Amino acid sequence: MAEPKKMYISYNNIHKLCQKVAKEILAKNERPDIIIAITGGGMIPARIIRSFLKVKGEKNIPIQAIGLSLYEDMGVDDTVETIGKEVIRTQWLDFMALDKHFDSLIGKKVLIVDEVDDTRTTLHYAVTELEKEIEVQQKRLNRLNEETTLSVFVLHNKDKPKKADLPAKMMETGHYMAAVTVPDEWLCYPWEADDIEEHTELAKQQGND
Ligand code: 5GP
Repeated sequence: MAEPKKMYISYNNIHKLCQKVAKEILAKNERPDIIIAITGGGMIPARIIRSFLKVKGEKNIPIQAIGLSLYEDMGVDDTVETIGKEVIRTQWLDFMALDKHFDSLIGKKVLIVDEVDDTRTTLHYAVTELEKEIEVQQKRLNRLNEETTLSVFVLHNKDKPKKADLPAKMMETGHYMAAVTVPDEWLCYPWEADDIEEHTELAKQQGND
């Protein structure tokens, strides 16, 4: 099988993509109350976009990390066709920190950040599980009337058929934000590079600097 084409992405490019989306969020007056980074790819974009979402006189937006891993379930007969992908939670919300320094997620604007939307499996899982979590808390605290808004920010959305969906309401109301939509190629992020100088040069040659 041929190697997939590689697209190199520089740190500068990521910085600018975060800046662009932050401007759009602020222009819509939708500054999030909390950012949830999906580890590890969402962490650097989450940290960068937080700076661009900073507003004078307002507190820094807290970032929480959740860890999700795609686990390859080989199925019964081990053929490629039967490989399913199951998502495993490796890290979840820190409720102690939330209670102490923030509040619950109820009634908040929540921005979920990851680096890439490939098959959409991970984002689907994150959004579904967060929605469930919020519903449980709403019932527990008897705060059923408050509306929570979940948004998604990714650097790259791969233009391909997806294996899972995000809520129609999120997609229709501009709460799904991909800085760029790219062909179905392998994205090489700078934090994975052995030689960052060479990586940056390749990104420049491809116009991703
Ligand atoms: P999903 O298929 O659930 O949308 O993406 C799962 C995860 O696979 C992503 O969070 C990311 O870590 C990884 N992934 C998918 N496509 C790429 C890619 O092109 N480059 C890199 N570095 N990781 C990818």
